[in-house]
Amino acid sequence: MHISQSLIEWYHDNKRSLPWRETRDPYKIWLSEVILQQTRVNQGMDYYHRFLLAFPDVQGLAAASEQDVLKLWQGLGYYSRARNMHHTAMEIVENYHGIFPQSASGLKKLKGIGDYTAAAIASICFDEPTAVVDGNVTRVLSRLYALDTEVDTNSGRSLIAGLANSLLNGSDPGTFNQSIMELGALICSPKSPACHACPLAFWCEALKKNQTTNYPLKTPKKLPTVRHLNYLVISFMQDKEAFILMRKRTGNDIWKNMYDFPCIETESAVEADEVLAICKINGLLGSLPLVVTHVSDEYIHQLSHRTLLAKFIRITIPQIPDDDGTLIAIKKSKIDELPLPRLIDRYLANWI
Ligand code: SF4
Repeated sequence: MHISQSLIEWYHDNKRSLPWRETRDPYKIWLSEVILQQTRVNQGMDYYHRFLLAFPDVQGLAAASEQDVLKLWQGLGYYSRARNMHHTAMEIVENYHGIFPQSASGLKKLKGIGDYTAAAIASICFDEPTAVVDGNVTRVLSRLYALDTEVDTNSGRSLIAGLANSLLNGSDPGTFNQSIMELGALICSPKSPACHACPLAFWCEALKKNQTTNYPLKTPKKLPTVRHLNYLVISFMQDKEAFILMRKRTGNDIWKNMYDFPCIETESAVEADEVLAICKINGLLGSLPLVVTHVSDEYIHQLSHRTLLAKFIRITIPQIPDDDGTLIAIKKSKIDELPLPRLIDRYLANWI
């Protein structure tokens, strides 16, 4: 029996029952693929259902405000995914009459849809024979063929893509793609592959060499850079209501258009006094008296190439400061309604 045939038979008998496997609607497949990038299935499932409830189709997503989309995405991280989805939904409605392009090359013209997502949508929804390549597929193929090429290099990536396409079952490419990803997720796991239950064991070169976990080969990782962030959680009372000063992030970074607190970045961990001294030097909050009421423990927030070490310094001021154009006074009771980076959300969840 051929490799792809074994894989598909195994998939039919063993696949997990997941809601996006019950549909070929490109909007739902797109949504599931974008959510599942960098997110575990269990966590992603909730978001998938919530998103579809709020925006059941591409027209619904296109008509939403970016703030509502980001709010619904809150906690998933990698917010550019949500911003790109929103942008692309509007483009599909405006320029494509609300109908998704049916080929991988057409899909890749849309913002945020790269090789992987385009191949997934085109193969699952429109039967285009094009292979998906994600971390699971890469791991399975590098072991199956005991590839001695580092898979995170250009030559490694094109080698894997070539192998995936050569195995692709032309008559049912969507099922083949889902089969090999499912095998990577359920059987050919990174640390302890269950080779005894694997439909590819007969052909697997890494298993023959008894070196399964030596694959895939990767270039040595650089250590993530560490950044020290000192967030200023500045509050004041007005008409018996507590307000917090926040800022909307406008720079073109991962948290664009989300809300956080004013922040002083330092080269190393520093005490609250030093942070306040920097505020004074920078003229932040003018000459208002600042009273520190609480300093949080350090929060560690891991991003792909950076480790953020964040401290939250709670400060009260007697009144709203002169408008400097960057700080926005938000009622404390309304902060939850804003799109917030996960780090800020974690802090607020522990607010006492
Ligand atoms: S035999 Fe083991 S290492 Fe090889 S593909 Fe299957 S699970 Fe992965």
